[in-house]
Amino acid sequence: MGMNVFRQAKWPEPIIFELGRSGRIGFLVPDPEPEVKEYVGEISIPEKIIRKQPPNLPELSEVEVLRHFINLSQMSYGVDNGPLPLGSCTMKYNPRIAYEVSQDQRIALLHPLQDEDTVQGILEILYYLQKWLANITGMDYCSLHPAAGAHGEFAGVLMIRKYHELRGQLDIKKEIIVPDSAHGTNPASSAMGGFKVVEVPSDRDGNVDIDALKEVVSESTAGLMITNPSTLGLFEERITEIAELIHSVDGLLYYDGANLNGIMGYTRPGDMGFDIAHINIHKTFGAPHGGGGPGAGPVCIKNRVVDEERGITLKDLLPGPRVVYDDEKGMYRLVFPGKYSIGWLKAFFGNIVPLVWGFVYIAMLGSKGLKEVTEQAVINTNYFIKLVRGTKGYSIPYGENRFRKHEVVLSAEPMKKDIDVTAEDVSKALLDKGLYAPTIYFPLIVKEALMTEFTETETLENIERYANALKDISRQAYHSPENMKKHPVNTSVTRIDQVKANRPRTMAPTWRVYLKKFKSIKK
Ligand SMILES: *Cc1c(COP(=O)(O)O)cnc(C)c1O
Repeated sequence: MGMNVFRQAKWPEPIIFELGRSGRIGFLVPDPEPEVKEYVGEISIPEKIIRKQPPNLPELSEVEVLRHFINLSQMSYGVDNGPLPLGSCTMKYNPRIAYEVSQDQRIALLHPLQDEDTVQGILEILYYLQKWLANITGMDYCSLHPAAGAHGEFAGVLMIRKYHELRGQLDIKKEIIVPDSAHGTNPASSAMGGFKVVEVPSDRDGNVDIDALKEVVSESTAGLMITNPSTLGLFEERITEIAELIHSVDGLLYYDGANLNGIMGYTRPGDMGFDIAHINIHKTFGAPHGGGGPGAGPVCIKNRVVDEERGITLKDLLPGPRVVYDDEKGMYRLVFPGKYSIGWLKAFFGNIVPLVWGFVYIAMLGSKGLKEVTEQAVINTNYFIKLVRGTKGYSIPYGENRFRKHEVVLSAEPMKKDIDVTAEDVSKALLDKGLYAPTIYFPLIVKEALMTEFTETETLENIERYANALKDISRQAYHSPENMKKHPVNTSVTRIDQVKANRPRTMAPTWRVYLKKFKSIKK
């Protein structure tokens, strides 16, 4: 007790709109410099878009804004506070050097409509990132356009669709096969791309059940989407056999490469037989995951022939502009999507800030460093497994004794059966120890799942602390199960009513909705 008790800050912090007072000012926009004025000329905003009234924004002084957000941040927990082993999310430390580079004025102040010869620096960065990612994945070309993993998947599915369309097969190729251990975005992107999703089960060792796969592969198979290592952290042992099977019916293989942390430098989707792969820069390559903010999910392809006669290859299907080097002119140039491309997925050239993070991360580590990242991440996972294996109340479903790659999925099912303490209860108890919870209840094939991923940046001591916390929780739970329903008590927000929180009636995503719903409900 005493020194070791974790307690999170709890400020009685109002919503920023409630803090505001009319007329209070935080910042005065200075008049532009005379030369800027001269360059830009008189600014005249068209009458019809001028607001009649100023927008209803909170008015505060600078110090109030700063205090508000510092207080909120103290009531929160992130990767800068301690271990954040959210499985499948690869919450590694985001190196500050990459932040500094991405915020460098020479990058931050560029405009996407500037002439190519004035932005050679950023084009060079993007060019090398394309090349490095192609190299890391064993693919031929990459497009940096997609803004997230799911966006990259969607681009991939649209390319699969276009491939079959250009080969005159789209009325036959109607199905995409997805394993039951898949991330939820895989069936979602397949369905959004207009395909029927066919699920295949995993076998007891956590591999795709090959016999079940053979049953569903047919002339209708447009492609297969798979994560390898799977969301169970297990490397698919028969991946080349699976690739041959899908190719034998002219299906394409899509690799969900959101988590390359377990294989980088050791094996590549291109070498396993995949045709298309996406990468999550905001997982493997050190860019932060914004709270719903911009990420980057580049999509890469093997330059497979689509139509020999017309000379179309998968490269022609890639989305968005790509950067190429023009040997003759000795400069970088943008190539815009041509007539076989799936087209534009977002404005301009992709999310530049996370892409710069990824560039710096790779440049900083080099190929040797990236390999060490993989080694460290895999060792961390398996060391953690060694520490928790055999702890009462937890099990390791699917290939119990197999080595894992980037992550491991524990199950609290034995604890639930014994004493009705659930994965959620375990997670809440972890919060009270000043640790973050794993990803819970995913993948769906593991009951009471605790999906844990430390990445390469977690220390030995913290992994031991985490394993000890899980053991403590098991002991406490078997000692007094009823107490486990009370956690967390030391956090700024204690246990929330999940059902209530999900009811549309109680949700208020904006200040306007909040005013409408609650101020009137209260009255
Ligand atoms: C995170 C993740 C995705 C989706 O990535 P987003 O950037 O969140 O869209 C897809 N597949 C797997 C396996 C993931 O872990």
